[in-house]
Amino acid sequence: MRKKFFNLDSKVYEHPVDRAMLKYLASLPGFETLTNWILDWTYVKWHLVDLKGSNFQVTRESCPELYNQVKDIVDILGVDEMPQIYTEWGYYINAYTTGFKDSTLLTIYSGAVDLLSKEQLDYIIGHEIGHIKSKHVIYHMMADILTNVVHDWPIASSLITPIRIGLLYWKRMSEFSSDRAGLLACQNPDAVIDTIIKTAGVPQKYFNSTDRAVFIEQAKEFEYLLSGSETLLRNLSSLDNTHPWTVLRAAEIIKWIESGKYDRIISEYRAVECKHCGEIIAPNSELCPICGGRHK
Ligand SMILES: [Zn+2]
Ligand SMILES: [Zn+2]
Repeated sequence: MRKKFFNLDSKVYEHPVDRAMLKYLASLPGFETLTNWILDWTYVKWHLVDLKGSNFQVTRESCPELYNQVKDIVDILGVDEMPQIYTEWGYYINAYTTGFKDSTLLTIYSGAVDLLSKEQLDYIIGHEIGHIKSKHVIYHMMADILTNVVHDWPIASSLITPIRIGLLYWKRMSEFSSDRAGLLACQNPDAVIDTIIKTAGVPQKYFNSTDRAVFIEQAKEFEYLLSGSETLLRNLSSLDNTHPWTVLRAAEIIKWIESGKYDRIISEYRAVECKHCGEIIAPNSELCPICGGRHK
């Protein structure tokens, strides 16, 4: 039985670089309002029309199993809004999130649904819900827009490129935060590593015969190669915006688990069900704030 969390703030598990950038962006006067305004008039309207017109919308009625799987994860991670869910045909083990405020859109590739176990898909969905919880979504869209501007309008490139490189580097770091949210959603480290192995391109024929320990070794070796070279990491981040960098993501999540932080969050933020009224209450509560029932 997976644990729900009580008042789990994303600050508790966000990667430090991601945390610092989110704090900085939130401190810029008017930045969020301006970003929301630009996105509202461009990307979101266009994307919503595109999804509504081309993709299968998952609702409680149209596809209850997948809808409920997303709803469970939204509840586990304590996110207020339920995203609109769509599926997209394509055998990628992936999903993505767009939109903002109360209209977030979660699109899941059919490959992720068909090729993953329930727990592995929980991790992929949890990763995306993590982007919503940390409010990464609007800044990710901004980074995508700047990338397109640089591509379509090279004269702007010298002005925009430094901002874009900064955003892309941060975007990589925000992926690490959301991987942690994905792990907190599925609560099974092996399922996370197995999903990453599949995402790294192992053919379906070998899904059941790959050795998790050997892949973990590969991830640790890659992490060692990059360690101590912030410049190398930063430059690699700016090179290719689309490659998911799966092996490094595996190394990061393994490092986080081994640091004990994952276990600490599970034990410190585990919600307790009131034995009298069944409401979710804070861990270590003496009295239930809803019914007044005693727990100690
Ligand atoms: Zn992501
Ligand atoms: Zn109670």
